[in-house]
Amino acid sequence: MIPANLERILIVGGGTAGWMAAAALARVLGTACRITLVESDEIGTVGVGEATVPHLKLFNNLLQIDEREFVRQTQGTFKLGIQFNGWGRPGDSYVHGFGGIGRELGSQPFHQYWIKAFLAGRAKDIGAYSLNTAAAPRGKFMTSASDVSPSSPLANIAYAYHFDAGLYARYLRRYAEARGVRRHEGRIDQVRLDPESGFVTSVVLADGQALSADLFIDCSGFRGLLIEDALHTGYHDFSHWLPCNRALAVPCEKVGPPTPYTRSTARAAGWQWRIPLQHRTGNGYVYSSAHVSDDEAAATLLAHLDGRPLGDPRLLRFVTGRRKKFWNRNVVALGLASGFLEPLESTSIYLIQSGIAKLLSLWPRRDFNPVLIDRYNAQSAFEFDRIRDFLILHYRLNDRAEPFWRACRYMDIPIELADNIALFHDSGRFYRHAEEMFAEPSWVEVMLGQGLMPRAYHPLVDQVPEAELQAFIAHVEEVIASCVAAMPPHEAFIARHCAAAAQA
Ligand code: FAD
Repeated sequence: MIPANLERILIVGGGTAGWMAAAALARVLGTACRITLVESDEIGTVGVGEATVPHLKLFNNLLQIDEREFVRQTQGTFKLGIQFNGWGRPGDSYVHGFGGIGRELGSQPFHQYWIKAFLAGRAKDIGAYSLNTAAAPRGKFMTSASDVSPSSPLANIAYAYHFDAGLYARYLRRYAEARGVRRHEGRIDQVRLDPESGFVTSVVLADGQALSADLFIDCSGFRGLLIEDALHTGYHDFSHWLPCNRALAVPCEKVGPPTPYTRSTARAAGWQWRIPLQHRTGNGYVYSSAHVSDDEAAATLLAHLDGRPLGDPRLLRFVTGRRKKFWNRNVVALGLASGFLEPLESTSIYLIQSGIAKLLSLWPRRDFNPVLIDRYNAQSAFEFDRIRDFLILHYRLNDRAEPFWRACRYMDIPIELADNIALFHDSGRFYRHAEEMFAEPSWVEVMLGQGLMPRAYHPLVDQVPEAELQAFIAHVEEVIASCVAAMPPHEAFIARHCAAAAQA
């Protein structure tokens, strides 16, 4: 007999994770399931930031959300990448841009040919060969052009968004409620389990009302009300590799046009983010409490804002890591309830989106086939751990003198990452899994940006004659420069792009 389909879904939490899940499930499941979301105004949401990665476009496409409408509704701006200031050593700066670097020449990726030219003193820094890294510091932005040759870098521009997470959650709430999602306001005080299976049967609100379901999606934030408090799933703590454990966040007045990039500036005991929105600028200091007090961190943050602060800094505590299982019995954890890798590469919202996509692909019946659950957990663990290593890379490769940074430079790191650092130093090569989120250009830009210059290149690069290699490198640089020159200023693009939506 075919096991019954799920009928009732309860989403616990109405932050970014909860409303993203509600909107996507409502869109995909339609009326096949009854979807309810419970959230507590008293407890509130994290809602800082937010900066994203390009994948969010796919999520919005799934919901059929118009980009111009989305940018207007969330006070959004566009993002070509992240500028890292002082991360390798004080005073240096590089951009980790989305998208590719250079173009194809022979059998090897572009950066291999670039290494040869650069070591011979005949190439500029790698940033001159990627549209995003060249355009971002110049404040230029546009979405892909349709009236250029398909081989032009302007034909396929990789970009993401900065937006107000609170406004995004509100937008998704309207979207989900319009598609039948029911919302309950109230604080959950108790979680009931089936004594035999250990499955969650219902949650009980402070007013005594019980909400039952077949599947529970835990989006309750750091605490993990169901996945941890009720099911004791366990947590893999990554703080020996990612030691920052606090953040202070404060918005400030907008001063000047929004930059088309997130800024991350190294500080004595961590780093400071700057996220430009249309109406204000988001800021925060992510730090290790073992190396700086909260008061000192607040003073550092406030001393480095471009505009007047719009409130007092808000303190957030966290432990970097992830749940031992993301899906346990009939509970799937998303967002902060599933784990937290600090916001260095803006990956949290991506991980929510990816969790929703995996859940829909592995959607269970009422028998909760354990193979589906194991698959979900294995894929999620892989994804978290690969992003974790990419983040550790930033900390490991530093040449700063402060105790926090020295500790990061000498910490033990996962063996696969250590091998990649050694291999890149040897010949610009490294190994990455095909399915991992950060693509080859990201690894190259961060390794070079953090000051790890290879001493040699792939031997097959020598198959290309010297003169051809030089002409190719010079040509790519010229193409990128002319494309950047053709791009409009970011602020002008937003004004035009969003105005067009208002008229539509
Ligand atoms: P929350 O926002 O904490 O929401 C939890 C929900 O659960 C709330 O609705 C709350 O009311 C409800 N709840 C909890 N307990 C109960 C209860 N007992 N009863 C009823 N309801 C309850 N991500 C990015 O992608 N980019 C960034 O730039 C970025 N920056 C970040 C910076 C910092 C410092 C931090 C901490 C996070 C950052 N993130 C970023 C992560 C991002 O903020 C979160 O992933 C995202 O907001 C999702 O949060 P959430 O919905 O999981 O949890």
